[in-house]
Amino acid sequence: MKAGVLKETAPGERRVALVPDAVAKLRAAGIEVLVERGAGEGAWLSDSLYADAGATIVSAAELYRDADVVLTVTKPPADVVGLLRPGQAVIGMLAPLVHPELAAALAAQGVTAISLDRMPRTLTRTQPMDALSSQANVAGYKAALVAAAEFGRFFPLLITAAGTARPAKVLVLGAGVAGLQAIGTARRLGAVVSGYDVRPASKTEVESLGATFIELTAGVSAAGEGGYARELTAEERQVQQDELAGHIARHDVVITTAQVPGRRPPLLVTEDAIKAMTAGSVIVDMGASTLGGNASGSRPGETVVTGNGITIIGADNLPASMPTAASNAYSRNISTLLAYMTADGALAIDTSDEIQAGVVITHDGRVVNEDVAALATPRPEPEGGADVDGPGD
Ligand code: NAD
Repeated sequence: MKAGVLKETAPGERRVALVPDAVAKLRAAGIEVLVERGAGEGAWLSDSLYADAGATIVSAAELYRDADVVLTVTKPPADVVGLLRPGQAVIGMLAPLVHPELAAALAAQGVTAISLDRMPRTLTRTQPMDALSSQANVAGYKAALVAAAEFGRFFPLLITAAGTARPAKVLVLGAGVAGLQAIGTARRLGAVVSGYDVRPASKTEVESLGATFIELTAGVSAAGEGGYARELTAEERQVQQDELAGHIARHDVVITTAQVPGRRPPLLVTEDAIKAMTAGSVIVDMGASTLGGNASGSRPGETVVTGNGITIIGADNLPASMPTAASNAYSRNISTLLAYMTADGALAIDTSDEIQAGVVITHDGRVVNEDVAALATPRPEPEGGADVDGPGD
């Protein structure tokens, strides 16, 4: 079997799906590796490093022609679908709940689509393949650094001959994988850190990192399925936003990481909350998306300074800004999954397997993942207009 590593083409994307270290391991498992010329450049991994590890460097055209399995980080652009051939497989973070139309196109092309972001995450054996966690970990770390770099004061308490600097007060909203890493990193930089999440289980995790857990007196609790949060009702959202605003105003830095799978990110920092913040405060919004983020007014990939002097950073793809660490981790995730799904030198699709039932999105010309199929099949438009409450990006 030949696995081909694509050069990522999304704007600003510097990660690569496989690093040279993984090439030897896949070869030992009987998998030959093709690498598109320059695929690792963004992560400082030269073609010669791949060649030395035993990979064959090829053009994009050769890769699409010869690879049995195409490995990517993010979803391939729409025009690539036509270059893939029936029977070929593509493995990456394809975000099929957000882009069901891509899944439908891949199915129509006869391509087997395997998406790492649909990995069942609560099984111990899937941890080495959990790309959402590995990338969120990188993102959370970088979010704290981005906030510290933008903030006009120190994070730690500093006592110097020139005076005493009080430590920065950092609030992390959403204490999943990224949030906990942001908390840990901000703590290591010396900030005084608080954390908040709607899942009550996150309280002990936040406190174990030496941060204070913020509990809302209104007690909004929203543990959903599989360890995720459920979407709040409009009433709950209002209560949460109002009470959080008071906490936000007392902090210098707010890092937001809140997500609800397949939905647009919840708005946690409202315009009124931002107005009540002190000039010089910084918000890093990891939920920033074209549909809106966790903070009002955030724009993906942009830094906005409000009229009252609050810097809002729309940090939409932080893992790409730490391409080597993110690629190393992702490479381990994708190569473990590839090896797991390989039997007798070929990809062995078996959707009765618990892991494959999650990650295999299309096969044999069909969208086989039920959640995605429900979205990929065009629904009749409801009377009175289209449903605008679609999934977030
Ligand atoms: P995520 O990226 O989907 O969301 C980030 C955080 O935002 C979550 O903690 C979520 O509760 C929170 N959130 C959502 N809506 C919110 C709101 N309105 N207000 C405040 N917070 C809100 O989550 P994630 O980081 O991928 O982790 C989700 C869960 O999966 C966690 O419980 C995590 O521990 C668990 N997990 C388990 C394993 C494992 O068991 N091996 C691996 C990875 C993650």
